[in-house]
Amino acid sequence: MTPNALATFLFSIYEQFRVNYLRPGNCLHKEITAELRELAARSNGMIKEGEIGASTEKRGIHMATFGHGEKKILLWSQMHGDESTATLAIVDMLNYLVETEAREPWCTELLEQTTVHIIPMMNPDGAERFQRQTALGVDMNRDARMLMTPEGMLLREMQRRLGPGFGFNLHDQGVASVGTTRKVTALALLAPALDDKRTTPPVRLRAMRVGALIARTLSQFIGGHIATYDDAFEPRAFGDGMQSWGTSTLLIESGHWPDDPEKMFVRKLNFIALLTAIRCIGNGSYQDTEMDWYRQLLPNGKMMYDIIIRKVELHDGTGLWSGMADIGLMEEPPRQNRRPGEISTFVVQEIGDLSFHGALTEIEANGRRLRVGVLPLGKTLPLAFITDALQIHFDSP
Ligand SMILES: [Zn+2]
Repeated sequence: MTPNALATFLFSIYEQFRVNYLRPGNCLHKEITAELRELAARSNGMIKEGEIGASTEKRGIHMATFGHGEKKILLWSQMHGDESTATLAIVDMLNYLVETEAREPWCTELLEQTTVHIIPMMNPDGAERFQRQTALGVDMNRDARMLMTPEGMLLREMQRRLGPGFGFNLHDQGVASVGTTRKVTALALLAPALDDKRTTPPVRLRAMRVGALIARTLSQFIGGHIATYDDAFEPRAFGDGMQSWGTSTLLIESGHWPDDPEKMFVRKLNFIALLTAIRCIGNGSYQDTEMDWYRQLLPNGKMMYDIIIRKVELHDGTGLWSGMADIGLMEEPPRQNRRPGEISTFVVQEIGDLSFHGALTEIEANGRRLRVGVLPLGKTLPLAFITDALQIHFDSP
């Protein structure tokens, strides 16, 4: 099966294997740990699972391992506690292996060719708080040099002990467009630089090649919706660190998709990308991908809002002036930081001509009138306040 055919196959069967009860709102330490234990228990020895260390607040950090091949791969997700998409995709991936008993020939080969170690929740204290940082208030992805956090120290230690040839650094990013287009970034990829000259030694080229493979195989579903993440050298980040410690590391940033607040589609893309990449690292076929698939990706851009309300008639209240405008809103705090049950609030970021911008949700105001100043720029407002001001009906996503 070619990589593209494999991806197509995975695309078609994914929903049967999704662990449906797990969502961003309950992707917490207790739930994920219990699910991992359960998956390992049901796997007939295929998946080994255990605690490898503990967080600042002594939550156990767990690792799952499958396969017994010579290509060693390390995946870690949710080092930013509020970035759960890849964690959920990993659970789905393990569930797929367990449910199918890895009987598909490509799966059997994958287990023979690779040893895959997965740390699905690097920062459980942050996850508990729906926050980026660890319990110390430290961004552990800026701790790859000092290793002051127990979580950072553990990740460094695992890289040293396991010596993986390949690494996957799994994150969620803010709402972004692909370059200056109005297409939303569904995934952003980066083989991080390991020096400030951004040289491309073999260790980084291999990671770029894996990125090219993912871009190629996913382009059949989301062509034009894959971007690259900021390429600046950040020596304190783990991606850059891993690369310099000899592990070819690819950063995958989960982005967004229109009208998909729980990011279920992006979760599915992760599932396909990870399984396809692991398979193709295993049999070496990732090397066949044209590097242009990676090199031609556009960087993340700023042409995307959470919501655009289109065609509002602004007026100054005196009857002397009125004009048509669009209103661009960003959710603040972002949805991923919102605890279940909390209402969503938005900031008015821009009023004016947004015809070159895209949005995850677009609302037509059909010329509803709005007095200047009623929706002030930069102020955080409940969505209901905004829709009431415009007398439009809209259910919060
Ligand atoms: Zn992150």
